[in-house]
Amino acid sequence: GCGICVKKCPYEAISIVNLPDKLSGEIIHRYKINGFELFGLPILKQGYIIGILGKNGTGKSTILRILSGELIPNFGDPNAKLSYDDVLNKFKGKEIYDYFYKLYNKNLKVVHKIQYIEYAGRMLKGNVNELLNKIDERGKIDEVRELLSMQNMWNKSVQTLSGGELQKFLVAAALLREADVYVFDEPSSYLDVRERLNMAKGIRELTKDKYVAVVDHDLIVLDYLTDLVSIIYGESSVYGRVSKLYSARTGINNFLNGYLPAENVKFRQDEIKFMLKELTDLDFSKNVKIRIKWSEIKKNLSDFSLDIEEGDAREGEVIGIVGPNGIGKTTFMRILVNEITPDYGYVMPEGLRMSYKPQKLIPEYDGTVQQYLENVSKDILSTSSWFFEEVIRKLNLHRILESEVKDLSGGELQKLYVAGALAKEADIYVLDEPSSYLDVEERYIVAKAIKRITRERKAVTFLVDHDLAIHDYISDRIMVFTGIPGREGHGKSPTSLRKGMNEFLKEMQITFRRDADTGRPRVNKLGSYLDRLQKERNEYYSLE
Ligand code: ADP
Ligand code: ADP
Ligand code: MG
Ligand code: MG
Repeated sequence: GCGICVKKCPYEAISIVNLPDKLSGEIIHRYKINGFELFGLPILKQGYIIGILGKNGTGKSTILRILSGELIPNFGDPNAKLSYDDVLNKFKGKEIYDYFYKLYNKNLKVVHKIQYIEYAGRMLKGNVNELLNKIDERGKIDEVRELLSMQNMWNKSVQTLSGGELQKFLVAAALLREADVYVFDEPSSYLDVRERLNMAKGIRELTKDKYVAVVDHDLIVLDYLTDLVSIIYGESSVYGRVSKLYSARTGINNFLNGYLPAENVKFRQDEIKFMLKELTDLDFSKNVKIRIKWSEIKKNLSDFSLDIEEGDAREGEVIGIVGPNGIGKTTFMRILVNEITPDYGYVMPEGLRMSYKPQKLIPEYDGTVQQYLENVSKDILSTSSWFFEEVIRKLNLHRILESEVKDLSGGELQKLYVAGALAKEADIYVLDEPSSYLDVEERYIVAKAIKRITRERKAVTFLVDHDLAIHDYISDRIMVFTGIPGREGHGKSPTSLRKGMNEFLKEMQITFRRDADTGRPRVNKLGSYLDRLQKERNEYYSLE
């Protein structure tokens, strides 16, 4: 799969209607000989937030490093040591020249929130409040604390922060710096829905009139946050090409369609469709059998108490679970799979076959990817099955069969564990945050497989996730978790997607409308005409 086949690629990775000039196009960067190649750069525009959308391994972080001046592009020669003037000469006469001229000669000040925040967390010493006070060059510390709801973590030591808290800390630190250019690499990772939208609001409010670029995989966040979007397409670890800038709405729609009209390039075989009729493809009002049910459940864990309403789920049903971090979603999953015994209540019938993908990904398996998969299911790797075609191949797991599980990256481990969990024959699938570390394409590949397997095996899937577009795409009913994070959680009974989402969005005072062309959900701008109208009608989650 070189990625530039005219017909269907053997890896189904990509197909191009109009051959892009891979060879003649301008190479911006190549790390090593015969290694990954980046073609093109998105143009930053002052006063606009530029979104960068594309699959993993196609150069998004590389682009941010070049735009922030950390990496000097080599235009394809890994041994070239180019000066700023060399680079400017290369860009002369192009739209991008202006930006680099300012970056290199006028010393634009840049802040860069990096993708892999775990490392940053380990290097920092001190508590949140002290460190942010030291950084605050703009006198906006109170505003940032409010915007990102950081009250509960204000006096914690940075070393002890959870993933979500660390992400908020680093976004806050970036926003408190006085800079000309702000770049954010995957800021929604680890954040719950409310935190994602707060983060988006914070970046919007505090980067007016600046140069801003954001890479993210949450389409709802990207849509809400950015003005213009550039799509990066290509083949993971082989090459990435940068599209023209589109308005955020059109760019995201083009991305879903897998087709870029301005450049006449089809970069994906299938469209990603938000088809509302799919939501009702199983008529649960008719003869559908209850597969699992539970009584009211209570559980105390030191300072935290959880209370779940009684409920049930029917054969073939995907139950989406939404709620903030620290509210007991994982605890409920662990009760379902019998890892935690409740203080009160039960799940029935007994003896259901469970397949569980925990939230925490621990690479504790001793062996290769192939051994891991074959251990789960003997014929998982037989190339004739749809599972191999639609899951293993599309997630590119077939290319890392020889790798040791302990050496995998977060994204690879997630794909392996999700594929493993789905390959297992079970009555109940329990998937805790399967979309973290995955790019948008992978999220939809996984979501489609979840739905198909749940339906075909007449199983039930419990799906905890913070990506609301994914719930919109496959969840049949929704359980809403509310309460006080870290103190008490209340899990409601499953209710229809419409009612559940409505309730969840209402609590956050956010309204969703539908995109007219693709049917995908979009966040209304606060106080806009539709936002006010929908709130008046109590229609926070519109199906039209
Ligand atoms: P993305 O952010 O879209 O996932 P990256 O920009 O991180 O992609 O990486 C694109 C490709 O470049 C990957 O194949 C990666 O392995 C390679 N790459 C990234 N950084 C380096 C580096 N410092 N040296 C060599 N290869 C690298
Ligand atoms: P969520 O998945 O919604 O983020 P969790 O179920 O993981 O929430 O956790 C809910 C709360 O319970 C958190 O405050 C967490 O620290 C606490 N908690 C989870 N497991 C334990 C445990 N074994 N002992 C004590 N507290 C726990
Ligand atoms: Mg990246
Ligand atoms: Mg959890």
